[in-house]
Amino acid sequence: MECIFCRIAAGTATARIVFESPRVLAFEDLHPQAPVHVLVVPREHIDSLWELVDAQLAGELLLAAAEVARRKGLARGFRVLTNARRDGGQEVEHLHLHIVGGKRLGRMLPG
Ligand code: 5GP
Ligand code: ZN
Repeated sequence: MECIFCRIAAGTATARIVFESPRVLAFEDLHPQAPVHVLVVPREHIDSLWELVDAQLAGELLLAAAEVARRKGLARGFRVLTNARRDGGQEVEHLHLHIVGGKRLGRMLPG
Protein backbone atom coordinates (compact mmCIF):
# COMPACT_ATOMS: atom_id res chain seq x y z
CA MET A 1 0.00 0.00 0.00
CA GLU A 2 1.69 3.18 -1.18
CA CYS A 3 -0.69 5.87 0.01
CA ILE A 4 0.46 7.27 3.36
CA PHE A 5 -3.04 8.16 4.54
CA CYS A 6 -4.28 4.65 3.66
CA ARG A 7 -1.41 3.29 5.74
CA ILE A 8 -2.37 5.53 8.66
CA ALA A 9 -6.00 4.39 8.31
CA ALA A 10 -4.87 0.75 8.27
CA GLY A 11 -2.65 1.27 11.32
CA THR A 12 0.55 0.38 9.50
CA ALA A 13 1.87 3.95 9.75
CA THR A 14 1.62 6.00 12.92
CA ALA A 15 -0.14 9.29 13.48
CA ARG A 16 -1.55 11.12 16.48
CA ILE A 17 -5.23 10.31 16.20
CA VAL A 18 -7.73 13.01 17.18
CA PHE A 19 -11.05 11.45 16.08
CA GLU A 20 -12.16 8.07 14.79
CA SER A 21 -15.41 6.73 13.36
CA PRO A 22 -16.17 3.75 11.13
CA ARG A 23 -15.58 5.68 7.87
CA VAL A 24 -13.56 8.72 8.97
CA LEU A 25 -10.28 9.37 10.74
CA ALA A 26 -8.64 12.59 11.96
CA PHE A 27 -5.00 12.98 12.95
CA GLU A 28 -2.43 15.67 13.61
CA ASP A 29 -0.63 17.07 10.55
CA LEU A 30 3.05 16.10 10.56
CA HIS A 31 4.13 19.66 9.69
CA PRO A 32 1.58 21.92 11.38
CA GLN A 33 1.00 25.35 9.79
CA ALA A 34 -0.86 26.69 12.86
CA PRO A 35 -1.06 25.84 16.59
CA VAL A 36 -3.88 23.44 15.66
CA HIS A 37 -3.57 21.61 12.35
CA VAL A 38 -5.51 18.39 11.96
CA LEU A 39 -6.35 16.36 8.85
CA VAL A 40 -9.72 14.64 8.39
CA VAL A 41 -9.71 11.77 5.90
CA PRO A 42 -12.06 9.04 4.68
CA ARG A 43 -10.74 5.60 5.66
CA GLU A 44 -11.35 4.43 2.10
CA HIS A 45 -9.03 5.80 -0.56
CA ILE A 46 -10.54 8.67 -2.57
CA ASP A 47 -8.05 10.75 -4.57
CA SER A 48 -9.50 14.20 -3.92
CA LEU A 49 -12.72 16.21 -3.64
CA TRP A 50 -13.01 15.90 -7.43
CA GLU A 51 -13.76 12.20 -7.03
CA LEU A 52 -16.11 12.47 -4.01
CA VAL A 53 -19.67 11.43 -4.91
CA ASP A 54 -20.89 9.88 -1.64
CA ALA A 55 -23.10 12.48 0.07
CA GLN A 56 -23.27 10.51 3.31
CA LEU A 57 -19.49 10.36 3.49
CA ALA A 58 -19.20 14.05 2.58
CA GLY A 59 -21.44 14.86 5.53
CA GLU A 60 -19.48 12.62 7.85
CA LEU A 61 -16.22 14.32 6.86
CA LEU A 62 -17.65 17.79 7.53
CA LEU A 63 -19.17 16.73 10.86
CA ALA A 64 -15.84 15.17 11.83
CA ALA A 65 -14.16 18.51 11.08
CA ALA A 66 -16.59 20.24 13.43
CA GLU A 67 -16.01 17.62 16.12
CA VAL A 68 -12.24 18.08 15.78
CA ALA A 69 -12.67 21.84 16.19
CA ARG A 70 -14.68 21.30 19.38
CA ARG A 71 -12.22 18.75 20.76
CA LYS A 72 -9.39 21.18 20.09
CA GLY A 73 -11.22 24.03 21.82
CA LEU A 74 -11.41 26.26 18.74
CA ALA A 75 -14.43 28.27 19.92
CA ARG A 76 -12.71 31.49 18.82
CA GLY A 77 -12.63 30.29 15.22
CA PHE A 78 -11.01 27.98 12.75
CA ARG A 79 -10.80 27.20 9.04
CA VAL A 80 -11.55 24.05 7.05
CA LEU A 81 -10.06 23.67 3.60
CA THR A 82 -9.14 21.07 1.04
CA ASN A 83 -6.57 21.33 -1.71
CA ALA A 84 -7.70 19.44 -4.79
CA ARG A 85 -5.48 18.23 -7.62
CA ARG A 86 -2.32 19.77 -8.97
CA ASP A 87 -3.34 23.38 -9.47
CA GLY A 88 -5.11 23.29 -6.11
CA GLY A 89 -1.79 22.51 -4.44
CA GLN A 90 -2.66 18.97 -3.35
CA GLU A 91 0.45 17.02 -2.34
CA VAL A 92 -1.03 13.89 -0.78
CA GLU A 93 -3.44 12.27 -3.22
CA HIS A 94 -5.89 10.98 -0.63
CA LEU A 95 -8.81 13.33 0.07
CA HIS A 96 -8.26 15.30 3.28
CA LEU A 97 -9.74 18.31 5.02
CA HIS A 98 -7.33 20.61 6.85
CA ILE A 99 -8.67 21.98 10.14
CA VAL A 100 -6.48 24.91 11.19
CA GLY A 101 -6.81 27.26 14.11
CA GLY A 102 -5.42 28.33 17.42
CA LYS A 103 -4.36 31.74 16.10
CA ARG A 104 -5.90 34.65 14.19
CA LEU A 105 -5.85 33.48 10.59
CA GLY A 106 -5.17 35.87 7.74
CA ARG A 107 -7.87 36.56 5.20
CA MET A 108 -7.86 33.96 2.47
CA LEU A 109 -10.24 35.50 -0.04
CA PRO A 110 -10.06 39.02 -1.50
CA GLY A 111 -12.60 41.58 -0.42
P1 5GP B 1 -1.93 18.88 0.84
O1 5GP B 1 -0.84 19.78 0.38
O2 5GP B 1 -1.98 17.60 0.07
O3 5GP B 1 -3.26 19.57 0.95
O4 5GP B 1 -1.59 18.54 2.35
C1 5GP B 1 -0.91 17.38 2.74
C2 5GP B 1 -0.64 17.50 4.22
O5 5GP B 1 -0.27 16.23 4.71
C3 5GP B 1 0.49 18.47 4.56
O6 5GP B 1 0.01 19.46 5.45
C4 5GP B 1 1.54 17.57 5.20
O7 5GP B 1 2.22 18.18 6.25
C5 5GP B 1 0.73 16.38 5.66
N1 5GP B 1 1.46 15.12 5.68
C6 5GP B 1 2.23 14.61 4.68
N2 5GP B 1 2.72 13.40 5.03
C7 5GP B 1 2.22 13.14 6.27
C8 5GP B 1 2.37 12.04 7.15
O8 5GP B 1 3.04 11.05 6.87
N3 5GP B 1 1.71 12.11 8.34
C9 5GP B 1 0.93 13.20 8.68
N4 5GP B 1 0.35 13.16 9.89
N5 5GP B 1 0.78 14.25 7.87
C10 5GP B 1 1.41 14.23 6.68
ZN1 ZN C 1 -5.12 6.53 0.35
